[in-house]
Amino acid sequence: MSGLSESVQGRILEWYDAEARELPWRNNPYPWPVLVSEFVLQQTQMVVGLTHWHRMMERFPTIESMASCPVEDVLEAWQGCGYYARARNLHALAVEIASRNPPCLPSNPQGLQDLPGIGPYTAAAVSSIAFDYPIAAVDGNIRRIYARTLAEEYPKDRDIQAWADESLYRSRPGDWNQALMELGATICTPRAPSCERCPAEQVCLALQTNEPTKFPAPRKRRSKKIEGHALVIRTPSGVYLTQRNGSRLGGLWGVPITEDPEGLRLLCENHHVSEHRSVGRVRHAFSHRDWNLQVWVAEQSDGGVDPNSVPISRLDERILEAAGWIRA
Ligand code: SF4
Repeated sequence: MSGLSESVQGRILEWYDAEARELPWRNNPYPWPVLVSEFVLQQTQMVVGLTHWHRMMERFPTIESMASCPVEDVLEAWQGCGYYARARNLHALAVEIASRNPPCLPSNPQGLQDLPGIGPYTAAAVSSIAFDYPIAAVDGNIRRIYARTLAEEYPKDRDIQAWADESLYRSRPGDWNQALMELGATICTPRAPSCERCPAEQVCLALQTNEPTKFPAPRKRRSKKIEGHALVIRTPSGVYLTQRNGSRLGGLWGVPITEDPEGLRLLCENHHVSEHRSVGRVRHAFSHRDWNLQVWVAEQSDGGVDPNSVPISRLDERILEAAGWIRA
């Protein structure tokens, strides 16, 4: 597998040096800000991710500052960024690093991959960007650039990795990885690539087909459909909320939910609710699950938590909003 030629590498880096977006961790790529950016930006758009990166860095400017806080504080700062397992992993990672002597992130991808929440992509990205370690980081952007420059509809992971390894500009590995990611994020976008501005235009086989967006073919993604009910029990102190378990929403607080379309009666019985009224439906997709929940409101005279005082997921925010709650 041969990679991009030296002349194309040169054009891409020249384009990156001139056109790359100003991102706060790029000027001084210290390990902690770079690591936080990679956690925040996984499966999150740049505009949203940037807001959350600033919020996380203001709240936790160092590894030690995060390690000394309970995980609830990290979940609270993470609110709205989705995929809360990332926040829990980031906290576990900070605790692990803070316990070491010296309390420093490993500079090599193997050492990084031993930490919570770090897979091959994040390890390669952080080690190359923050430590100049010569390793190719392969994400969805690089997969798309590979598929398009070589006009491959169904690219195989091992071929993409081999191409990325061969293409790596070894004397500037961090900039190179970011340049390809930037190219995929801003020029070679999934639906509307700006080929006329692309530094790889001369070697792109997909462009020669006049249908670059055919490459790569979309992956089949199966989502689980969940039909159920959510019960918002209002009390004088707030709303009845409990802390959820599980990898997706674990640690966050939420209202009682049933994933059984016939489960409303049992849900009400379990929470001693005899009267309730429907306030609409919430449809919400995340983590390969499409939720379609009927939202019910009931009143009780005691218990309850102020939803502003605990970390809650976007799903629960939307359920509470359907019941008339407005975030303070
Ligand atoms: S020429 Fe177009 S399709 Fe090809 S890599 Fe560049 S932006 Fe993508």
